[in-house]
Amino acid sequence: MGGRELTIDLDVVEANAGALVTECATHGIAVTGVTKAVCGHPEVAAAMLRAGVTGLGESRVENIARLREAGIDAPITMLRVPSLSYADSVVELADLSLNSEVAVLEALSAAALARSTVHEVVVMVDLGDLREGVWPDEVPSFLRRVAALAGVRVVGLGANLACFGGVAPTTENMGRLVELVEAAEADLGRPLPMVSAGNSSALALLAAGGMPARATHLRLGEAILLGRETVERRPWPGTRQDGARLHAEVIERRRKPSVPSGPVHEDAFGHHPEFVDRGWLEHALVNVGRVDVDVDGLCPLDPGVRILGASSDYLVLDVTGAGAAAYPVGAEVVFDLGYGALVTAMSSPYVHHRVLGGPQPR
Ligand SMILES: *Cc1c(COP(=O)(O)O)cnc(C)c1O
Repeated sequence: MGGRELTIDLDVVEANAGALVTECATHGIAVTGVTKAVCGHPEVAAAMLRAGVTGLGESRVENIARLREAGIDAPITMLRVPSLSYADSVVELADLSLNSEVAVLEALSAAALARSTVHEVVVMVDLGDLREGVWPDEVPSFLRRVAALAGVRVVGLGANLACFGGVAPTTENMGRLVELVEAAEADLGRPLPMVSAGNSSALALLAAGGMPARATHLRLGEAILLGRETVERRPWPGTRQDGARLHAEVIERRRKPSVPSGPVHEDAFGHHPEFVDRGWLEHALVNVGRVDVDVDGLCPLDPGVRILGASSDYLVLDVTGAGAAAYPVGAEVVFDLGYGALVTAMSSPYVHHRVLGGPQPR
């Protein structure tokens, strides 16, 4: 189905995941493949698993259910700290969850006991990024309270950086995580096997040899799907950046001036657009808009195409650089996607999703 389509290349996902699993293994690090940006797409998850990730990570119970319904029985980690109201579903569907609240752990423990099981948890530590996690000083008392809960078992500590505060992983903040793990092991009198050191933002530190040896684990999404580390969003060596593409269709193609005519007020989204006079343009409308995708994360593959702006249903392009005859009505325009654009396009009911490559049918 053409028109407005997101394609995901399973061979790229598998190759990227394989390269990252191999590289992380040389540092003693296991990889969880994070599928949240593709809404738990089972074939994408399967490509990650073929490449050797030890499990999957998801931020939404609905996506975990989708993976399970597709028959995926690999270990799945619930990445977003669970809501109280989802405690039972998390225990039912996930093997492990990341946590930062005693009340939630009490609910998980009760749900696990009701199901005659024990739910494994990683306690998240906030190393300064100010998203989820227990503040370092509070970790020892927090762990003592959780140790009293019979239905949950703490298997390690984790941290997440570069998501809210933009704090990059460093030898210092990772060292702080390791100190807390060692103190916790002494206090609890047993080893904590999992030190889940971070996400795609940790790769540069790892490759530079700055990750403490005690780190055992990373949770990687963007690096696998889009081939980028996330501190500076550089392409990661050994990975490809062409795993996801958005295809849209030209629906109007005319010559128009570069500056609006008449008094300019707000646009449809309350912004005050600014225009530079470049004379007349080869102007194209394509059939994707802000309702379909986070348009700020789109980048046309053709350097002759420039995004001028977007409204709910239209993306407005300047295709002058591609020539006067380029991109007639019906032509396809292809875009590279950033993480936000990928996840919004994957979640949109208006965008068709199609996987390419993967295992050949027998
Ligand atoms: C989304 C998420 C990840 C994956 O992040 P990437 O930057 O895509 O690698 C890892 N851990 C947690 C807790 C997350 O929410």
